[in-house]
Amino acid sequence: MRCYPVTAFGAPLPRTDRPTPTPQGTEVLVRITASGVCHSDLHLLEGKFDLGEGESLDLARTMKLPLTLGHEIAGEVAALGPQAARESGGVAVGARRVVFPWIGCGSCGFCSRGDEQLCLRPRALGVSTDGGYADHVMVPHPRYLLDFAGLPDTYACTLACSGLTAFGALRKVAPLCGADPLLIIGAGGVGLAGVRLAKRVTGIAPIVADVDPAKREAALAAGAAVAVDPAAPGAAKALIKDTGGGVAAALDFVGAAASSQFGLDVLRKGGRLVIVGLFGGSIRLKLPLVPMRNITIGGSYVGSLAELTELVGLAQAGGLPPMPVHPRALEQVNETLDALRAGRIVGRAVLQP
Ligand SMILES: [Zn+2]
Ligand SMILES: [Zn+2]
Repeated sequence: MRCYPVTAFGAPLPRTDRPTPTPQGTEVLVRITASGVCHSDLHLLEGKFDLGEGESLDLARTMKLPLTLGHEIAGEVAALGPQAARESGGVAVGARRVVFPWIGCGSCGFCSRGDEQLCLRPRALGVSTDGGYADHVMVPHPRYLLDFAGLPDTYACTLACSGLTAFGALRKVAPLCGADPLLIIGAGGVGLAGVRLAKRVTGIAPIVADVDPAKREAALAAGAAVAVDPAAPGAAKALIKDTGGGVAAALDFVGAAASSQFGLDVLRKGGRLVIVGLFGGSIRLKLPLVPMRNITIGGSYVGSLAELTELVGLAQAGGLPPMPVHPRALEQVNETLDALRAGRIVGRAVLQP
């Protein structure tokens, strides 16, 4: 098999050829046909997350190299372990499936209640174990494989992170009532997925804030009611005025100091800010204003297997605005990561081995 693992933090990913593994026990070997390139891979590649004020979260202690990144994977079942064949529930060689990558230990409290994505001993594909920047990936159990019949693989793969992350975050602010303004900050890959899903999940066409005019345009095409530039002078004040007192909920798909501050500034009383993006940084919180404004600040990390199952069903049912995807050859993984880092990708770049 061919893969492009991280061998040193910050260095380009080298092409590596390895013997294709044989699935054991409940394992399923998937031949990858589409693999999305996520912004969080840039942080994993760097080996750190920026915590602001000169601090960073060092991944070098927990990430064992070499590690193949890539957690938005769709493909075709290539081989089944002896137990997987018995437990497959209809998965056979040749079946086309999207992979749920947020796999946990299977036995802790989070895992037993179906929140494997929050497991303290994660085995997430492309984060803790080898993932999708390759032509094959090993999945520990067939229950992590979802049928995406009717959808192109280049779109189905994006549901596993950008779609699911947006869906999980929207779930945390629903239900809003029809008159409640909803703000989405950042219309990159995940934010744009949020714009596409917002109407369906919350019933509200969102307001979108992005500093990039091309991303604002993509957001309008994906169903945003209005798109504003949060860096324009007086942007927060104008938004509070236009919404008659501020937004009921803000989803920050960037997660930078400026974007979260903007979200906090435009919340109305009783509003909720959900931080989703991992760009990095820190903000100062004026504590008395939190109770006085009765606001809630929360976080959202990807989503559960049940949520991905629901999301794939929703996508299959149709009616969602199109997600712009840009297929590229697997060999172009390094250029693709560079383009993403430079903010040159609108929608999702998808590698195809
Ligand atoms: Zn991701
Ligand atoms: Zn667990």
